[in-house]
Amino acid sequence: MIKQIPKPISGGLILSYKCSAECRHCMYACSPKWNGDWISQEDLKKILMQLAGTIEPSPYGSETMSLNYGLHFTGGEPFLNYELLCKAVEIAEELNIPSTFVETNCCWCVNDELTREKLQLLKEKGLRGILISVNPFYLEYVPFERTERAIRVSQEVFGKNLMIYQKEYYRRFKEWGVKDRVSFENYLKLEKKEDFAKNVEFFIMGRAPYKLEGKLEEFFPKYQAAYFFNEPCRPSFLRSWHNHFDNYGNYVPGYCGGISLGDCRNLESLLEEGVEIEEYPVLGFLINEDLKGLFQFAKDFGYMELREGYFSKCHLCIDIRKYLVVKKEFKELKPIEFYLHLK
Ligand code: SF4
Ligand code: SF4
Repeated sequence: MIKQIPKPISGGLILSYKCSAECRHCMYACSPKWNGDWISQEDLKKILMQLAGTIEPSPYGSETMSLNYGLHFTGGEPFLNYELLCKAVEIAEELNIPSTFVETNCCWCVNDELTREKLQLLKEKGLRGILISVNPFYLEYVPFERTERAIRVSQEVFGKNLMIYQKEYYRRFKEWGVKDRVSFENYLKLEKKEDFAKNVEFFIMGRAPYKLEGKLEEFFPKYQAAYFFNEPCRPSFLRSWHNHFDNYGNYVPGYCGGISLGDCRNLESLLEEGVEIEEYPVLGFLINEDLKGLFQFAKDFGYMELREGYFSKCHLCIDIRKYLVVKKEFKELKPIEFYLHLK
């Protein structure tokens, strides 16, 4: 059976999974331990040329930015390879890709001059805006002063095309007078228990269920696998918006790190021909939104349900995939390194 793959109207280009940080909640299991494997210029061009025909501008216009429109450059931390980031922006601009922005954890914003110089050059090359990560997890690695600097300088350079993700955390950190780095354990002392994950987006997927084990239990209950069998994917899995395209050529659905819908270097033929489900059993179960089927499939390979239960559907999904990936080669479970960097 052939399944059509959604035409991406927005998304993120992962230049590499290498990051200066190793956030406990990272959906893509990024860290300094990854091989750089930065996207080659050849693949960069191939992918961007095809995305140029599908990416849609922000509803406010192609000169502006919105989270679920346009194209963003991401990682890992894209500023770890500033030259490549500049090249990517240049090519996107030549191709008239609308509403481009870069996502960063601001580790590189060590002084005003350097911050301004790098952002200004990206703007001159055609970048429209910037998204600055603010959450309790990156804060373990990046001094808050660098984030404050990045926000201040970005306002000067990009004006309104600045997004703080997430603003509510920024508001809280400012209110608490946060300085330097803060460990997650100390963050929990500052946070009111009832406010944890309140008014913010927090998905328990990727690395989070493993690296936050023992911390999340007091905020979120765990359930047996069957509880999630018929629950739809949240955030949604097959969708046209905010998908990702990585440096290995994987078309990553939504925020689902470690899953490949196919080769985005051949995006046009992938969209035209779709995916033969029989060749990709894990995709087959996920696309049909049947985690019960995937669970049974994994059990046949010897997967044992976690006695203590799962925080979320994505926790169950990743735990199954982490198990399957070492049992057999599944072409849809890529990149393999993702599964090695979860813990
Ligand atoms: S969440 Fe962002 S900053 Fe943190 S490890 Fe992942 S890519 Fe790096
Ligand atoms: S359950 Fe799996 S496929 Fe669905 S959103 Fe979560 S990680 Fe993605």
